[in-house]
Amino acid sequence: MNWRVTLSDLNYGPEEEQAVLEVLHSRWLTMGSVTQKFERRFADFVGAKHAVAVSNATVALHLANLALGIGPGDEVIVPSLTFVATANAVLYTGAEVRFADILGPESLNMALTSIEAQITPRTKAIVVVHYAGYPCPMPAITALAEQHGLAIIEDAAHAPGASLQRRALGTWGDVGCFSFFSNKNLATGEGGMLVTNRDDVAAKVRLLRSHGMTTMTLDRHQGHAYSYDVVDLGYNYRIDELRSALGLVQLSKLPASNARRQAITEAYWQAFQGTDLGLPFQNASGESAHHIFPILLPERLERRAFIDRMRAAGIQTSIHYPPIHTFSYYRQRYPSVALPVTEEIAAREVTLPLYPGMTDEMVALVVEAVLASIKL
Ligand SMILES: *Cc1c(COP(=O)(O)O)cnc(C)c1O
Repeated sequence: MNWRVTLSDLNYGPEEEQAVLEVLHSRWLTMGSVTQKFERRFADFVGAKHAVAVSNATVALHLANLALGIGPGDEVIVPSLTFVATANAVLYTGAEVRFADILGPESLNMALTSIEAQITPRTKAIVVVHYAGYPCPMPAITALAEQHGLAIIEDAAHAPGASLQRRALGTWGDVGCFSFFSNKNLATGEGGMLVTNRDDVAAKVRLLRSHGMTTMTLDRHQGHAYSYDVVDLGYNYRIDELRSALGLVQLSKLPASNARRQAITEAYWQAFQGTDLGLPFQNASGESAHHIFPILLPERLERRAFIDRMRAAGIQTSIHYPPIHTFSYYRQRYPSVALPVTEEIAAREVTLPLYPGMTDEMVALVVEAVLASIKL
C-alpha cells in the first residue's frame, strides 16, 4: 500500500546514525556507560530519583509488578482499553487482573468510580494508563490508593514528557513504565524505562533485570569485580548501548517533537468542530504527550466503511484499542467481564495519523479525507 499519509513515522536524522556509529566504534555493545548516561538523563528529565533502562515496556511492567511484591493470590486493577501488555505483565506474576471501565467520550482513561468498584480484599495495586499521554486524575487515584493501602503503577508508554500539575507522568505512582517501541514518542526500536523514587524498588528492579546477579559484565570487564553471586530469580531484561545511544538523541528531541504533536492535535480539533465526531480529551488537565489522535465516530457511520474510505484516500488509520477483555484468551480466563462504556466507545474509535514530521499539507489532506468520509 502506497500511503499518502501513514499513521506514524520516525523522527530520525543523521544524529541517530552518528550516535549508533559511535557505539560501534567503542566496541562495547551491551549495557554500559551509554546506558548509564541515558538512565541519568531520563531520570532528570522526568524528575525521578531512579531510572532503569530495560528491553521494552512490557518487561518494565513485569518488573514493576514483581518489585511491588505482586504474585499468586493478588489482584491488580487495570483498564481494558489499552495495549494487551498492561494486563499480561500482571498475569506473568501469577496474580489476576480486574478490569475497570473508562469514563466516557470526553476521557478514555479509567473512571475513578469504576476503579473503586473493583477493589477487593485481594487487591494489591492499580495500573493506570495515561491514554495517548493525557493524564489520569492522579491526585484522586493516589488518595483512593492510600485509603486502601494499594500501590500504583503508571503505564506511561504514551506519556514521556507529559505532566499534571507540573509533575511528570510516571512519577506520581510507586513506579512508572515507558516504552521506546518504534511508533512511540521516543523511539529506539525496542526499549523501555522504569522510573521510581523508591530505593527499594530500584534496587530490586536492577537485580531482576540481569538474572539476580550481584555484579554487571561491565564491572568485571573493567576489573572492578571478578565473580558474582545470584541472589534472586532474575531475567535478562537488559537494553543495549546501541538503543541507549538512540534514546539519548531521541530524548533531546522529545520536547520539540511533543510540541509539534500538540500543534497538529489542536489543528485537528479545530478542523472537526461543528461535525458530529467525538473528540476525546479536549478539556483534559495537564500537559499531554499527544501520542495518538483518537476520534469517535457517530453511530450513524459504520467504522469499517469509514476506514475503507480513508484508505481509498491514501490515509492510514488504526484502532486503539480492541479492548483486552474481548480477546479470546481473556474471554476464556475472565468470561463474565462486562465493561459497557469501554465496549461502546472502543467500537466507535478510530486513530488518525499523528507524528512530528507531518507537514501542514499532510494534516490538511487528513482533514479533507475525514470531512469527505463522514459526509454520507
Ligand atoms: C506500547 C505499549 C506497551 C508495551 O510497550 P513495549 O515497549 O512494546 O513492550 C504497553 N502499554 C501501552 C499502553 C503501550 O502503548
